[in-house]
Amino acid sequence: MSNSAVIAILGGTGNLGTGLARRWAQAGYRVIIGSRTQEKAEHAVAELKALMDERGVDAVAVEAMDNQSAAEAADIAALTVPFAHHRSTLESLRGALQGKILIDVTVPLVPPKVARVQLPEEGSAGQIAQEILGDDVKVVSAFQNVAAVHLQEGSELDCDVLVCGNNKEARATVINLVEAAGLRGFHAGSIANAAAVEAMTSLLIFINKQYQCHAGIKLTGVDE
Ligand code: NAP
Repeated sequence: MSNSAVIAILGGTGNLGTGLARRWAQAGYRVIIGSRTQEKAEHAVAELKALMDERGVDAVAVEAMDNQSAAEAADIAALTVPFAHHRSTLESLRGALQGKILIDVTVPLVPPKVARVQLPEEGSAGQIAQEILGDDVKVVSAFQNVAAVHLQEGSELDCDVLVCGNNKEARATVINLVEAAGLRGFHAGSIANAAAVEAMTSLLIFINKQYQCHAGIKLTGVDE
């Protein structure tokens, strides 16, 4: 995929969204930070541009929009909102996302017990997204096992990303974006398999608390 693709990050003002925005902007993609409010999106863009300026990286291709305009302008969209707002956000953007790839990073955490696996009845957040958006949207689940703090650091990451989705080409596109973000990405099967990846995050949260760290996962015995 050429890095002329426009990537919208919906709910991109938060922890994971700003981390991904930074990584993809750094890799030369045109990135739109989406928000419920234009003002908040502009604030996030200004912060990102200041950070990139500081490091001498050109970030003119980062823009601010409300989520609806961002989804409409995107070639590829990533959804980075908490699970509690996953369904309502997808329902409101369903029309704008038709025919596109939607990268779903959502972990279906149920506070306060976020270190306990509590998957939804439908199987996973990724499956819920695919059901809401319909077959004309290629939902690809990724990045659930990466701590936002590492993405925000901007340096090379010794961390793998398992990529699930029903369409192989869409998965390959997202694997390219994972690599552009400085991580290794792997095909990990259909969207039904997102359940395993999403569940793994609660284990990692438990490990983070136990060992005071920001753990990720790493595959062994596989060459890219
Ligand atoms: P966050 O910072 O708490 O929130 C992200 C954004 O969600 C906010 O900036 C906000 O954007 C939007 N939002 C908040 N309330 C909303 C509502 N009622 N309706 C629509 N949008 C709303 O979340 P996060 O930590 O970045 O996590 C985002 C997603 O990434 C989650 O699903 C999480 O499971 C997943 N994830 C996070 C991490 C991590 O380390 N944080 C790691 C892996 C996966 P606006 O106010 O600008 O609209």
